[in-house]
Parts: sequence; C-alpha cells; structure tokens
Amino acid sequence: MKLSRLGEFGLIEEIRRRAATGRGVRIGIGDDCAWVDHLAGSSLITADLLIESIHFNLKWSSLDALGHKSLAVNLSDIAAMGGVPAYAILSLGIPRKFDSKQIAEFYRGFNRLARRCGVALIGGDTNFAKSLIVSVCLIGHPPARPVQRSGAKVGDDIYVTGTLGDAALGLAHLRLRLTGAKSAASTQLLARHHRPTPRLTAGTLLARQNLATAMIDVSDGLLQDLGHICRASGIGAIIWHERLPLSRAFLKLAGKVGRGLALNGGEDYELLFCARPHQRERIEKLSAPAKVQITRIGRCVTAAQGMTVLDGAGKAFSVQLKGHDHFKR
Ligand code: ADP
Ligand code: MG
Repeated sequence: MKLSRLGEFGLIEEIRRRAATGRGVRIGIGDDCAWVDHLAGSSLITADLLIESIHFNLKWSSLDALGHKSLAVNLSDIAAMGGVPAYAILSLGIPRKFDSKQIAEFYRGFNRLARRCGVALIGGDTNFAKSLIVSVCLIGHPPARPVQRSGAKVGDDIYVTGTLGDAALGLAHLRLRLTGAKSAASTQLLARHHRPTPRLTAGTLLARQNLATAMIDVSDGLLQDLGHICRASGIGAIIWHERLPLSRAFLKLAGKVGRGLALNGGEDYELLFCARPHQRERIEKLSAPAKVQITRIGRCVTAAQGMTVLDGAGKAFSVQLKGHDHFKR
C-alpha cells in the first residue's frame, strides 16, 4: 500500500505488529516513550528525527534554536510519561557546506537546554548527508507508574497545559512572510515555534501524585493527539472550543481562519491529560509549582460517542482532522 494512504500511524502500527519483542519490555511501540527493565532498574527511552526542509528550515531557524528544539521535542515525550530526563545520544548527518562554527552553534543550543534539565550528552554518531539530519535518543528515569496513553476512563476530565496553536501560528507567519514588521505578539509566537518549553515539572507532578489517568504531549495537533488517547483508552471525547487556552499573542494575530490552529496546529509540546473529576482541586493547585497554566477543556465519553468539539452554545461543530501526519497528504 502507498504510504500516502497508509499514513504515518498506519505504518507505525504495521511496524509494531511485526516488531521483534524481548523480555523486560514493559511498554513497547505505541506510547510517548518505551519503558524497559534492566538489571539496575528500569528506564524510559524515546527518539525523534529532525530533517532539514521537512522539520526545519535554516532560512528562518538559527542553529542554536535547532539544537534547543531537537532536545526539547524528546524532553516533551519523557514529560508525557511523567519521567525525569537523564542521558542523550545525538547523531548528526551533516552536508559538506557546513563549517565547525555552525555545528558549535547547534551544540550551544542543545547543551544549554540539556544543562538546564539535568541531561548529560553521552554519545552519538556523525556522518555526511545531503541535508542536515538530527537524530536524538533520550533516556530518562520513570516515575513509579509511567502515565500511558491508554488509561483514560469514561467520565474523566480532559486538561491541557499552557496555550494551544502558538507554534503553528508562528510557523504560518514565517511561511507567509508576515513578520516583516515584527510586533511583540509575533516575536512571542515565533519563540514558541523555535524554542518549545517541555512541561517536565507538570509531567512529574501529575505522575507522582497519580493524578493523570492518561497523558500525551501535543506534538501533532490537539485533536490528532487526543485521538491517540481515545484509541489507546477505548473512549471518545468532548472538547469545549470556548475553553481552549489561547495566548494573548494568538488572539491578536490568529484572525478567524487561524483559530483552527488551536485544534489542529502542531508543535505546541504541551501536555494533554485525563484525570478523575474528584481530583479537580488538586490539579488546580499544580499550576503554581509547575509554572504553567492548566485548563480543563473537555470530558471523556464512550467510544461510540466519538470525538466532538462543542461551540459556546453547546452545538457540535464539524471539525476536520488536519493534525500532522508525515505521509498523508
Ligand atoms: P511521538 O509523536 O510521541 O514522538 P510517534 O507518533 O512518533 O510518537 O510514535 C509513536 C510510537 O511509535 C512510539 O512508541 C515510537 O517509538 C514508535 N515508532 C515510531 N516510528 C517507529 C519506527 N520506525 N520503528 C519502530 N517504532 C517506531
Ligand atoms: Mg509524544
């Protein structure tokens, strides 16, 4: 089957079905991280690949920012399981046109964030390539019970950290070259696109206090990633559109058309999680120590009810799922 029909997630499902398995794999393919046993305990492991012209464009992204982002997207997957990041392996494919100063700039961005998050760079591989390729594998310490995508139950509340759509709107501005006159609002959106903030503290607090029943990071758009929780948990979901947390910069620049980016725009790297309704007060109290707003945006319903977005009047409004899939067009 053509990959454009199968889609990224169909392909991953095929890979998963045929994957070699082994002992000690507590969580394998299909979540934000794998969770594996070893003689000294257990670890969370995740990997992400960034390719020039597909995931980033050096015309508008600095190498320092790319270094930051290539680690941040992995940190976000560790956060989504409630883990603490520890060791990174970074491999590069580098075109001949690059010089050592540029590569040093990339490592500056990477190492700055690594130091801030207590991550040690312990190895990798270096090769020649036709375009810049960045591959990061991150290993972390799990909480007692890593939060999976599959634990949500009918009746659970649905929450998201931070604000939605900023990174996608920032990218849209870059693509349309709307940033000629730089305003404070557009600078903020661009920062969200270039240097995402992984929600590590929120993730560990939610996991340690057993508050989240299911969790994922929003990398491919709210609805797409909520869809992963729904499939893995065997539930449906209602989202209240009016409650979606939007930044002031987003409200200023999104316009009517751009509003859809809060539902479908990728690369927010916020945490989307579910929790039992009796935990509302405890979850509200996490905002301060986690240093990020946490907003209740919906409720888990039965799988038969599917996924619905309701407008302010409580009317279901039709949404097109346009979240990111690398193969589907
Ligand atoms: P995320 O967006 O959180 O990085 P992905 O959608 O990329 O997650 O991946 C979903 C799951 O599929 C993860 O468990 C990941 O490790 C696994 N996966 C993705 N690509 C491959 C591959 N080529 N081979 C094996 N497992 C893969
Ligand atoms: Mg993820």
